[in-house]
Amino acid sequence: MAEVDISRKIEEVRRNVAAAAYRVGREPSEIGIVAVTKSVEVPLLPQVIAAGVRDLGENRAQELIRKYRALTGHGEVAWHFIGHLQRNKVRAILDKVILVHSLDRWALAIELDRQASRWGKPVRVLVQVNVAGEPTKFGLRVEEVRDFVLEAAKMPGLRIEGLMTVAPQVSDPEEVRPVFRRLRELAARLAGIPGATMRYLSMGMSQDYVVAVEEGANLLRIGTAIFGRRGREDLHG
Ligand SMILES: *Cc1c(COP(=O)(O)O)cnc(C)c1O
Repeated sequence: MAEVDISRKIEEVRRNVAAAAYRVGREPSEIGIVAVTKSVEVPLLPQVIAAGVRDLGENRAQELIRKYRALTGHGEVAWHFIGHLQRNKVRAILDKVILVHSLDRWALAIELDRQASRWGKPVRVLVQVNVAGEPTKFGLRVEEVRDFVLEAAKMPGLRIEGLMTVAPQVSDPEEVRPVFRRLRELAARLAGIPGATMRYLSMGMSQDYVVAVEEGANLLRIGTAIFGRRGREDLHG
């Protein structure tokens, strides 16, 4: 994909985000865009950065590490880990990511806490919630989240900063509005837990980010709408 296309696509996403924000009385500037670069090759990435998007997301540790190294020296880039994280990969990505969106199980909380404590700096995380209860998706069930956050917030190596969800794939994004709404309401109910904030709601992807913005998302994870369809389609989540 040519440079002009990527910057045009990013502009288009920004316009849609702004329009959706204004419709519901929000400020577009409070909504962050994470460009999901999975299966996008390194030579294209500086174009994203040139278009003003500095938050990049990967769902595989090896890919993140490879691209992190390749982009060293290309200015400020903030990497987000957005996929299912194996415990044995925690150590390798810890010093490379600004935020892990996908804390989805207790064993991972323990390992993140352990490695971050060793490293001497807490790791910022979002708790992934499987709002629709899909068997194929990772994430806690809605009713498990409160107890999980209460306990994880006590871990010195973890800094819980909000919630993340991957909505079901549907043909009409309106169908997933209730999913986003439930995540926002859940975050509101969890406000005030000591040691945790609910600053970020990471929800909305290429298909459904407009609805997500209307429902309160402030971190969008967008791949296809920026890069087009890629050869290898990873499973979401
Ligand atoms: C791939 C992926 C995205 C981006 O999906 P698009 O539909 O390409 O925008 C967002 N979040 C997660 C967790 C993903 O794996």
